[in-house]
Amino acid sequence: MKKPDTIADKVRLQDAQTLAQGYSPAIRAMEIASIIAFVGLEAALVYKLWSTHHTGPWLLTLAVVLGYLAADFVSGLVHWMGDTWGSTEMPVLGKAFIRPFREHHVDEKAITRHDFVETNGNNCLVSLPVAALAVAVPLNGPGWVFLAAFLGAMIFWVMATNQFHKWSHLDEPPALIGFLQRVHLILPPDHHRVHHTAPFNQYYCITVGWMNRPLRMIHFFPLMERLITWATGQLPRQDDIGTEAAKALVAVDDAQELPVLQAAKELLKASAEEPAPSVSTRPVP
Ligand SMILES: [Zn+2]
Ligand SMILES: [Zn+2]
Repeated sequence: MKKPDTIADKVRLQDAQTLAQGYSPAIRAMEIASIIAFVGLEAALVYKLWSTHHTGPWLLTLAVVLGYLAADFVSGLVHWMGDTWGSTEMPVLGKAFIRPFREHHVDEKAITRHDFVETNGNNCLVSLPVAALAVAVPLNGPGWVFLAAFLGAMIFWVMATNQFHKWSHLDEPPALIGFLQRVHLILPPDHHRVHHTAPFNQYYCITVGWMNRPLRMIHFFPLMERLITWATGQLPRQDDIGTEAAKALVAVDDAQELPVLQAAKELLKASAEEPAPSVSTRPVP
């Protein structure tokens, strides 16, 4: 057998079918229960907000927009963790949470074949604690109302993320979805393509993608990866692309000095060269 020789060839090592078979009836039952519980909690929150006199249109609009930005960031962070660390062999987490990330990279169209439950159940489950918290916030004043509306909106968008992500992989989305994608109010397909292109380590935000460029500018994910590799010795994306490819990518990353690390080193060098200014104002005896 010919050995794959580029990083792109080495990626996609896991068998898509084995990964797809990890979807068991128990997981599906858990997902259906999660969707019902999530819809119930969000409905309770809307009812509570509707009943209070502190709620106004500006407050709600601001909460919904800031919630959208926060959800986009959360989608990026969770997606990055799922793509980068852990393995499908891990107990509990492996099958329910890490498997879908691996499957999506070896067969990115599989998500378009998932029905409503498989697409959204996972996100509903992880969203439950925050939805419950939003309902529990006492609505004693505008600040509290804003907090409840922000949490409720953010977790609603977090829940909608897989649906928006699925739509970005459709060859021919329905007209309204296509329009929302073109005006970039939900994740556009060409924007998300960057994530599915070598070296497969950027543009993790998949709710709307507005946070992708700012996060890339500050090298957010490469810095987090270096920190975690330094602290734990784990290689990023080892389970996803295989040990060899992960090592090759880390070597490439190490060779490219991040601007922020360069700046930090220069600062340290400068402060080491210059004599420390004397803080004492008293004359030396
Ligand atoms: Zn991914
Ligand atoms: Zn995707």
